[in-house]
Amino acid sequence: MNPSEWFTEQVPSAGTAFSLKIKQKLHEEQSDFQFLEIYETETFGNLMVIDGCTMVSTRDNFFYHEMMSHPALYTHPNPKRVWIIGGGDCGTLREVLKHPSVEHAVQIDIDERVTRLAEIYFPELCESNNDPRAELKFIDGIKWVKDAAPNSVDIIIVDSTDPVGPAEGLFGEAFYRDCFNCLSENGLLVQQSESALLHLKLIGEMRDAMSNAGLSHLQTLFFPQCLYPSGWWSATIASKAELVAFRESDCANKPFDTIYYNTDIHKAALAQPEFFKKAFSL
Ligand code: SAM
Repeated sequence: MNPSEWFTEQVPSAGTAFSLKIKQKLHEEQSDFQFLEIYETETFGNLMVIDGCTMVSTRDNFFYHEMMSHPALYTHPNPKRVWIIGGGDCGTLREVLKHPSVEHAVQIDIDERVTRLAEIYFPELCESNNDPRAELKFIDGIKWVKDAAPNSVDIIIVDSTDPVGPAEGLFGEAFYRDCFNCLSENGLLVQQSESALLHLKLIGEMRDAMSNAGLSHLQTLFFPQCLYPSGWWSATIASKAELVAFRESDCANKPFDTIYYNTDIHKAALAQPEFFKKAFSL
């Protein structure tokens, strides 16, 4: 394997690596916050890498973006106001805006350069950025939530990088407490929650932090994501109020296309593996 022809993300703690054969490197830069790279791959379209970690590819981003948005939007009874913390590639924003009930969606990413590069290299993910309901802010999501008024949002989606660097605080109790304060009565938070195979301890700490902050009703959903370590990823929905069944018939009649998500996928994603139930006494 000629290293110059492959991008490889190594995860030394797991003893694993994932590689994509590349045609060329299209761009690299050090932003004010992180090191950004864009590759053209042989089979996965374009690839965005932040600080050496795979973020988004043209070919497989739909799993992640659909599962970070639609399960929560079909769980909340009437989602009108949505914030996306992180999510600078704009793919989650595009999925959120497919919901006609959404009146205002704000994407708050600390790094404007991620969005500017997505506009060039992932234009399909940015196709809803000019929707009149969309607002793009480039500030720290931790500060945004801290400064927000009570009852100012129905769903907060934390579409962040791994919990290191600027994203570390996005997995902590203080942040979840601030989220609790600005969420409406039926408000939901969704957090990308890494791999249950590789990061069970982190998921446990995150679940404890959410519960301690008052977001004590939790659902972890599982889905494939071959780009990310282990190929098996998760999102955790955390709610103030008891989580009742999702709006299945609205979902079955959804007025938009998805590639992966549907009612059966929603139900299947909620199935909890034995080791996960055991770890968290579910
Ligand atoms: N799905 C991806 C993953 O799990 O690898 C995440 C994609 S998205 C590009 C992650 C974004 O989180 C990045 O654009 C980064 O700038 C943003 N981010 C990290 N820390 C942040 C913070 N404190 N506030 C707002 N955005 C943040």
